[in-house]
Amino acid sequence: MQVLRGINDLKTVQNLKGDELDREIMQLVNLYLTADTKESSIRKDNASHWVVRLAHCMTEEKRRWFLTMECELFRARFKELPSIEQKEFIMDNDEFSSVEATSARDFDDVQADLKATILSYTNSMAQANSSVTGPDAFYRVRFEEVADLVAMRRVFVKDGFAYVSKEQLGSLVMAPFRSHLSKQLAVLSRKWVSFCDGPEKDRLVPLVQGLADRDLGPDYGSGAAAKSGEQVSAAMLPTLAKESFPLCMSVMMDALKRTHHLKHQGRQQLGLFLKGIGLPLEEAMRFWRTEMAAVAPGDAFDKQYAYNIRHNYGKEGKRADYTPHSCIKVISGIPGPGQVHGCPFRVLSEEDLRTSLGKLSLADPMRIEQAVTKAKEGHYQLACGKVWEGQHGCACDGINHPNQYYEQSRKVLVGEAEEEKVAKVAKVEAANP
Ligand code: SF4
Repeated sequence: MQVLRGINDLKTVQNLKGDELDREIMQLVNLYLTADTKESSIRKDNASHWVVRLAHCMTEEKRRWFLTMECELFRARFKELPSIEQKEFIMDNDEFSSVEATSARDFDDVQADLKATILSYTNSMAQANSSVTGPDAFYRVRFEEVADLVAMRRVFVKDGFAYVSKEQLGSLVMAPFRSHLSKQLAVLSRKWVSFCDGPEKDRLVPLVQGLADRDLGPDYGSGAAAKSGEQVSAAMLPTLAKESFPLCMSVMMDALKRTHHLKHQGRQQLGLFLKGIGLPLEEAMRFWRTEMAAVAPGDAFDKQYAYNIRHNYGKEGKRADYTPHSCIKVISGIPGPGQVHGCPFRVLSEEDLRTSLGKLSLADPMRIEQAVTKAKEGHYQLACGKVWEGQHGCACDGINHPNQYYEQSRKVLVGEAEEEKVAKVAKVEAANP
């Protein structure tokens, strides 16, 4: 889970690509999947893969996410293998039965074309010469099996066969890997449905179901708020919302102000976020009671909503310390009619997103364009990072949690206020020595 979540952050928060992404992925592998011996590393890798696969087979969205991250992981690890092991992998797997070694005669026929192809995208004759060393350095495959290389014009194709170099083997293995894993996930998801009604219904099923939603980063629970020493009151919320709330929360604050109501998931998303920024229970009661007074005055509020707020603070039911939702969780929530939870970068139309961003009065309007573009490309957290930069005028470390957005914002704004205070005191002291 740590590795896959890490890959997700590298791609969506840090926007890494190519060699840089692969290098970081291998660091995650070394950190989390390496044990004392080769055998225990393999066992750890295998066991965790199957458990995490099971935890992500249940919904279309989870399957898609798992597939994407596993493909990235596989690609980076395959690239790291020595070429002899890559070759063994190709030869040992039935999926690649159509892959042929290049014969000496074929190689003689296409040698000049292979060099010309490599030269065309590297602009380096030295590289072309060092890559085209002999028949051993190339595999012959049906061109449709390496469609991505063909699309990028990075392979030479003749008579329906592409000549794939050793360095390009990753592209060859990815498509079968992806389709195999995708089919296996679909099969597993069907089996899971019947497993859920079996004898493990109350023991293993809830355990596995909760696994995929577990947050592995800082949880921003009440402990974190207490540690930061920040005490937030209901009266401070409108100002804090304007200065430091991420869009997912400010959209809900707006909706609450306008309609005096949020449906259950919205109240959970916003309520736990407010708890995470340090709003104590009594102040949370005051806030919700005031905001919802128009639709749930007096006793009606106590009867319908107070229990849930106390429950979030661990004062009712299981008495658990519920934590705010991470970006992954917020982004995966799709609001139905009349609901406003979820991540606005994902759920709002372009027009509505522009309207919501317009209300933030960002110092740099270019950031709005950048955020809209990133949101359209499906990079919601990067879009959010652009907005953060537009609000604060400095670089953002990446956004993976609404409470992290808030925390980073307070650090900048409170830090600036402190600096201003120190400068003022220094000025006064200088004027009155
Ligand atoms: Fe909220 Fe995260 Fe979406 Fe930003 S990216 S709006 S913090 S869910």
